[in-house]
Amino acid sequence: MMKNIFFIVMMLSGFLSIGQNDVCGTIYDKSMEDRLIENKKAFFELDNRDDDWEYIPVHFHIVTKSDGTGAAEQYKILNELCFMNKNYEGFKMKFYLSEGFSFIASDKLYSEPGSAISSAKIKANKKKYKNAVNIFIVNEIPSINAGPGRTLGYYTSKYDVLIVRKDQFGINSKTLSHELGHYFSLAHPFNGWEEDPYDAQKHGNPLKIKTIKYAGKNYLIEFMNKSNCDIAADKLCDTPPDYNFGITDDGDCKLNGPILDYNKDTIVTMENNYMSYFFGCIQFTFTPMQISAMRADFKSNKRSHIRSGYVPKVAKLDNDNGKIVEPKNNATTQYYDDVTLDWEDVPGANLYLVRVSLKSQSFNGIYYWVEGESKLVLNNLVKNKRYKWYVRAFNDGNTCGKEFGGYSFKAGAFASATIDTDNYSELSIYPNPIKNDQIYFKTNKELGNAEIKVYSLDGKIMDKLSLTLKKGVNRFNLTHSNYQNGIYNMIINTKDKQYIRKVLIEK
Ligand SMILES: [Zn+2]
Repeated sequence: MMKNIFFIVMMLSGFLSIGQNDVCGTIYDKSMEDRLIENKKAFFELDNRDDDWEYIPVHFHIVTKSDGTGAAEQYKILNELCFMNKNYEGFKMKFYLSEGFSFIASDKLYSEPGSAISSAKIKANKKKYKNAVNIFIVNEIPSINAGPGRTLGYYTSKYDVLIVRKDQFGINSKTLSHELGHYFSLAHPFNGWEEDPYDAQKHGNPLKIKTIKYAGKNYLIEFMNKSNCDIAADKLCDTPPDYNFGITDDGDCKLNGPILDYNKDTIVTMENNYMSYFFGCIQFTFTPMQISAMRADFKSNKRSHIRSGYVPKVAKLDNDNGKIVEPKNNATTQYYDDVTLDWEDVPGANLYLVRVSLKSQSFNGIYYWVEGESKLVLNNLVKNKRYKWYVRAFNDGNTCGKEFGGYSFKAGAFASATIDTDNYSELSIYPNPIKNDQIYFKTNKELGNAEIKVYSLDGKIMDKLSLTLKKGVNRFNLTHSNYQNGIYNMIINTKDKQYIRKVLIEK
């Protein structure tokens, strides 16, 4: 029982992260309104309410600071995509990853997406993925156009993209699902009250005004009796009146009433609507008309560029039993610059996200996408450092799997030589390990005059020799009394070619 309570508290705290005064920066302009009116027509007149799945490509742009730091954690983006799909699956709209993630390094876009420089970057980067819903993940959105509060995200019809703060990812805070509603033409149910939320002192209870001003325009206020629901606020009749009650609510997902409208009818609002500003609700929903408008929008001419006909992979992922093969937990790897991370295939997955971090900094992960196989070779680790790594199995249409692993390993002390294995028959060295002064070079052809340099792993030159390599076995003496036991690189330069061979000296 305790466990359940804990779980509920955790869930609530997730939702509570959209706190009081958190707002959406979408400006519902004429073009969006026109689209909504078209979409309403489409679903009334043409009966667009079929039952097919709609597959919607999304492309995530991870915006970092100019120095490349500050990226959103990629596993959180996969989590969020999973939440988006859970939130939209009831009405068969399915989002899938289109062309992975891309990165934009820009201080300006990171913290000021509305600036002129940022807009140019948004435009240019959207162009590269014009057949997807483009979502830009930024750190900060200054609240210039949304009235008071912290702006969590917005849709802009000008560029037809979504901009969302990175702290909204991976917590199912409803932010992204809300902004997607705008992308598909929905308005706030409180359309018109954005800058001037309901205040009993100011607007009266019962309400004493019939219009509300927003961005220089007067909006009709929706009545409870539905007499103007088709033309007021969000123009959808199954979303009841909302005078932006959510923004001043205390987070209990319940309107503090009674509040009477202009006709003195008691308002029964819909707190748990994705397009409202209420928070603290256990489950948000869209109304049937909102759903129909979104589906009609997807099918409209305006959205033909994102209807590819492609069906994403939505296989269930059996990854509760994800298994690491190597390195074993707490192992030390042979080399530090040639480490193979290997795990067992997860049925249903064709993509893996591998997160590797220094053990001491587990939240500064480096991410790798692995496609079609279940191992990864790392060449960029630091010797003798401890690392931790996780694997997340997914595919383009199902990102709901859990990470597994969390194993640690220590990167070995040695570098692996860049061994030219193809040419082993051309030149090989034996014995290896070398135990005395005698070394043999075996060749399958005349290599001629050769210069041989021996390097320690830290790059120090130990020896420089010249000899002639004839076809067959060539013997020479290496006086290695100065050598410590260990691995050395031999670089053999001949007239035509360079060979790199690794030898182990074991006295
Ligand atoms: Zn909004």
